[in-house]
Amino acid sequence: MTEATDILRDTFGFDGFRPGQEEIVQAALAGEDVLAIMPTGGGKSLCYQLPALIDTGVTIVISPLIALMRGQVAQMRELGIAARSLNSANSDEENDLTIREAQDGTLRMLYLSPERLARPGTTNLLSRIGVKAIAVDEAHCVSQWGHDFRPEYRLIGETRDRLGKVQLLAFTATADEMTRKDIEERLFPAPPRVFLRGFDRPNISLAMTPRANGRKQLLDFVTAHKGQSGIVYCQSRKRVADTAEYLQSQGIDARMYHAGLPPEQRDACQDAFLREEGVVVVATVAFGMGIDKPDVRYVFHMDLPKNIEGYYQEIGRAGRDGLPATAHGLYGMGEVRQYRQWIDEGGASEEQKTIERQKLSTLVAFCEALTCRRQTLLAYFGETSQTCGNCDLCRGEVETVEGTVQAQKALSVILRTRQIFGMEHLITVLRGEKTEMSDKHGHADLPTFGVGADTSKVEWRSIFRQVYAGGYAHIDMANYGRWSVTEEGWRVLRGEVEVRLRKPSKSTRGGGGGSAPVDMTGADEDVLAALKRLRRRLADERDVPAYVIFPDRTLIEMAKALPRSRADLSQLHGIGAKKLDTFGDLFLSEIRDSAGAAA
Ligand code: ADP
Ligand code: ZN
Repeated sequence: MTEATDILRDTFGFDGFRPGQEEIVQAALAGEDVLAIMPTGGGKSLCYQLPALIDTGVTIVISPLIALMRGQVAQMRELGIAARSLNSANSDEENDLTIREAQDGTLRMLYLSPERLARPGTTNLLSRIGVKAIAVDEAHCVSQWGHDFRPEYRLIGETRDRLGKVQLLAFTATADEMTRKDIEERLFPAPPRVFLRGFDRPNISLAMTPRANGRKQLLDFVTAHKGQSGIVYCQSRKRVADTAEYLQSQGIDARMYHAGLPPEQRDACQDAFLREEGVVVVATVAFGMGIDKPDVRYVFHMDLPKNIEGYYQEIGRAGRDGLPATAHGLYGMGEVRQYRQWIDEGGASEEQKTIERQKLSTLVAFCEALTCRRQTLLAYFGETSQTCGNCDLCRGEVETVEGTVQAQKALSVILRTRQIFGMEHLITVLRGEKTEMSDKHGHADLPTFGVGADTSKVEWRSIFRQVYAGGYAHIDMANYGRWSVTEEGWRVLRGEVEVRLRKPSKSTRGGGGGSAPVDMTGADEDVLAALKRLRRRLADERDVPAYVIFPDRTLIEMAKALPRSRADLSQLHGIGAKKLDTFGDLFLSEIRDSAGAAA
């Protein structure tokens, strides 16, 4: 591994491997077929980029998105690695050049779109150029169980067969068992070595807040993170448009992205996000896959995500560089009802519907969790963990109060109305509101009628969700969302269990909590600003995103250490030989000038 460690340091400028990387690189170098499941931001790319540089032969990389491919190729080339791509977005000259370089043996890495792989001439070309390995990025695209199925991915196995026995390295962040099995079967002729890396992303702080005034909560949050790149996810295109407009009207540099916009507009948005600093993208979940921008500082969910896997993928787009990042979400029962309806009315099989309903309940329970949020999240992926210290619950931002009596009231109204009603009606009964329904069923005569009049509807909804999250009540999703009392709920009613509930907040302030600015302790702010300006200029000259020049972390380390020589500089994160050569002196002189001015 010494050669690998040298390349890691000299070419990539990294001090060491991230968790999991070393074993994968080792297996790859030993010629094994590999399927690696790593969380987003875990550093998958390095696991095929590094082996590609050892020994001769070309490594083919199959990547589902042209933007993703281009970003990686630009990064590779800045590191001095002979990488190119073949795809429909390149000019013919570019593609011709790539083919020439592939044939004359100069190329180390060739990125291909799946469509390109499907073209008749491609296998011929590949068989002439000495392919040593095929790396498959976003390998879950081969599976219909995954969420981004791409039929062309099915050709990968065939191509490999036709090329003779080349090594196959597949990577994905999608973890569930079904998809994993499917990838194994569809890509690999024999079972590969499987690496399953832990799902924790400890640098992302987690918080979920009930929605009060959603826009205000968002604005507070975005304002508290001014100057940082972030993604705001909304559930529909219309909501994307409204939200983006609102942020713009408040002076925020917000752009919108959803699948209904013309491609030019989507590209422009993506470009701005990659290149400029402090851009907020308001988007549907159509935005994100393939955006491997390392310095996204936050992901804000304006609406409840679809399920926990979705949530995990979406928040995973924050903080890939390992620096502090924030995932903040808002949730309300409105979406829960809506999603439930979509499931119910959708065309899926009954079996699939049941799965989806369960997934939704798990998500609601995650929102209303009263113990460490990360524990709850990781438990979903089958991992046990300590309390994290980096979520709203661990930080004590969610205060709890004694809530047994309120819970008993909620449970008793469920029983008194014979366990056949949904939450909204139950709340009107508790609050003593006369409605058609309560007249019809004689609910105004119940002893529970009006016992909860002192508590607002909003608070009652929250109490019901918590009663549900705590396992005291069951919701029959298939039957109009009827509530019933569970065994554990009976224990509450009998006074055998105490219930703690969230302290109702008077004004729900969504923003401030858990804001995790990048740790700049000891960094000279003027120097940092000057370095960022220099980076911007270099990036513009080269027509690449800023992080391709240097990631934030490198600039922050420069502004802390104020290096004076190339040797000092080469000690810092992300500075390999090529970058030292290309940019070293420019940055050193900038540091000298701006630090000198400050002193
Ligand atoms: P993934 O594809 O798993 O989501 P990437 O491969 O894009 O993640 O890596 C995420 C970030 O981590 C990138 O900015 C990359 O440069 C950085 N990175 C990868 N490996 C290391 C390492 N060993 N040390 C430091 N940074 C790393
Ligand atoms: Zn926690």
